Formats: sequence, C-alpha cells, structure tokens
Amino acid sequence: MSGMTEQWLDLRSDTVTRPGAAMREAMQAAPVGDDVYGDDPSVNRLQDYAAELFGYEAALFAPSGTQSNLICLLVHCGRGDEYLVGQEAHTYRYEAGGAAVLGSIQPQPILNQSEGSIALADIAAQIKPDDFHFARTKLLALENTIGGRVLGADYLAQATALAHSRGLATHLDGARICNAAVKQGVSLRAAVAGFDSVSVCLSKGLGAPVGSLLCGSNPFIAQAKRWRKMLGGGMRQAGGLAAAGLYALEHNVARLADDHANAAFLAQALGRISGLSVSTPQTNILYVDMPAAACAGLNAALKAEGIRVSMGPHLRLVTHLDASRADLQRLVDVFAHYFKTSQA
Ligand SMILES: *Cc1c(COP(=O)(O)O)cnc(C)c1O
Repeated sequence: MSGMTEQWLDLRSDTVTRPGAAMREAMQAAPVGDDVYGDDPSVNRLQDYAAELFGYEAALFAPSGTQSNLICLLVHCGRGDEYLVGQEAHTYRYEAGGAAVLGSIQPQPILNQSEGSIALADIAAQIKPDDFHFARTKLLALENTIGGRVLGADYLAQATALAHSRGLATHLDGARICNAAVKQGVSLRAAVAGFDSVSVCLSKGLGAPVGSLLCGSNPFIAQAKRWRKMLGGGMRQAGGLAAAGLYALEHNVARLADDHANAAFLAQALGRISGLSVSTPQTNILYVDMPAAACAGLNAALKAEGIRVSMGPHLRLVTHLDASRADLQRLVDVFAHYFKTSQA
C-alpha cells in the first residue's frame, strides 16, 4: 500500500482525520495577520467563538493539546506546587512529564475508577495540609472523555465543588469534551461547568488538521499567552489553521453522534466473533481483547486490505469522520474471516 496512504482505513486514532473540501475552502479563504501581535482576524474570530461556545471570558489558540494542557498547568501551579490527576490521565501519562520537567510541578497521580472517575474520597485524602513537608496542592485536573468513557454530570459537579471548597483550582482536559457533550445531549457550556480552565482538541474527531483551544478567565488567558510564547507556541499567520478549527466547531460537533453509532455497530459486529471480548463503547472508542497469538496474523490480514490499527491483545479502535459504516464492515469481514480460518 505504500504510496497509496490516502486509501488506508485508519482506526488507530481520530487524530488521523484529514480536512475535507469544505474545510480546505474555509482555510483558503481565511484572512490572516500576525497572531503574536494579536492581528490575525481568523484566530481572533476562533478564540471569540470558542469563549462564547464554552462559556468563558476568553480563549487562546495553541498548536497542540499537549501544549494547551501544559500552559494551563503552568498558569495554575508554580514551582513546588502539586496537581491531583488520574493515573490514566493524558496530562500525567502521555505528555512526556512536561509539568514536572518544565514547570517543576509535582503530579499526585490517583487511581482511576473503572468508569474513569477519581473517587471523591481519594481526592479529599490527597489534598495536603499546609505544612512545609508537603508540596502545595493547587489544582484538580480531570479528563472527559477518558479512554472514551463519559464522566457523569453529578460526579463532575461534586468533584469540582470539593476542589473549590478546599481552595483548589480545576482544569478539564477536554480533548474530546465534544464527544462527551454529544453523548449526554448537553450543551458544551454545561459539559465544562465547574472548571476554571478547559483544553479542547480541534484535531481529533472534530477533523481540523492542527490545534487546540484553552479557555479561562481574562487574567488566566493573559498569563497563558506568556507561557505559550515561552513554549514556542506563538504562531504568526495562523489564520488558515484557525479557520479549519472554526469550521470544525461549526460543522463537526453534532455529527460525532455518527462516530458513536459506528463504534456501537463495530462493537456489536465484532462481539459476535468467538474468541474476541469487546467493550461496550460510550463514545467513539472501543477495546477488543483477543489472544496474543492472533495479533501478527490478523494484522497482516488487515494490512492486506488497507486497514491500519494499533495491533495488540488489548486493541483500541477509534471511529471518526474518515471511517464510514461500509469501511467498518470491511474490517469486520477481515476479523470474521481470520478467526474462522485460523487456529489462533
Ligand atoms: C490527544 C489528547 C491530548 C493532546 O494531544 P495532542 O496530540 O498534543 O494534540 C490531550 N489529552 C487527551 C485526553 C488527548 O486524547
């Protein structure tokens, strides 16, 4: 398939989505300026739109979700401060330790419950008293969706209220918060209620090529701009990218329901194949457990059909706007044929 990469069906992640014709037109037509001077009308429009959409005073466009989360941690916490975070959280586990390395911020990881939350009692127990032996506990960081699971509105209200009552700030890694809101049938404002800051990925299921948004109060965003500059995230004529992000927020949120329906379809179809144990997806992510001995052969069979996955005995499949129901049926057929004919 080399040289024909555009034909792959790729279920490794929803980051693989490519801008379609209408999004590319919006990018092409975008007026631009120097955003470090605050002069890019398309970036300003995106930031204003996002602040309104998520219900914050201001928003800031950042090159990636990793940088946007890091900026938020750097604003909330100083050297020798600590943030409470789930053991499975992206900010703790998959961002190269940025808060510790670049911010001298100590993470206090806490076990995630099976549905993705951090137990309220565990949060309370990890808030350190004001004693010079301890790092200063400053922030509770949650993630929604987490591994495709949606945290309940009641839980989020209780966890953020607990944090605030103990003097902590709250940050939401909302890389896939639009999936959570669509799944729960609530507004984006309602989905982020209780959080002092939020980071939202435009480049996942929303289908923009690049970029994340962080939202917060005016003073929060003013400080965030300094950190973004320091981290090398100040972009110049970024309006083309911002226009893609704006298009994504305007057109690609409601359609996430299709991705969720496709994930449910995939789970049902794969669940009928003996030898597989398939999770029930809440949004666009499902997990397939299978014998380790099957992985190499199955991966070869998938590749031969132009299908890319992150193969392993605990396989994660992610649906998105570049994976149609017919595409997914092709994947199901390869699985079914493989497990019917192999000894694995
Ligand atoms: C993807 C993701 C991020 C940020 O990823 P980037 O690749 O840096 O944009 C942050 N948090 C979660 C939960 C994510 O899934």
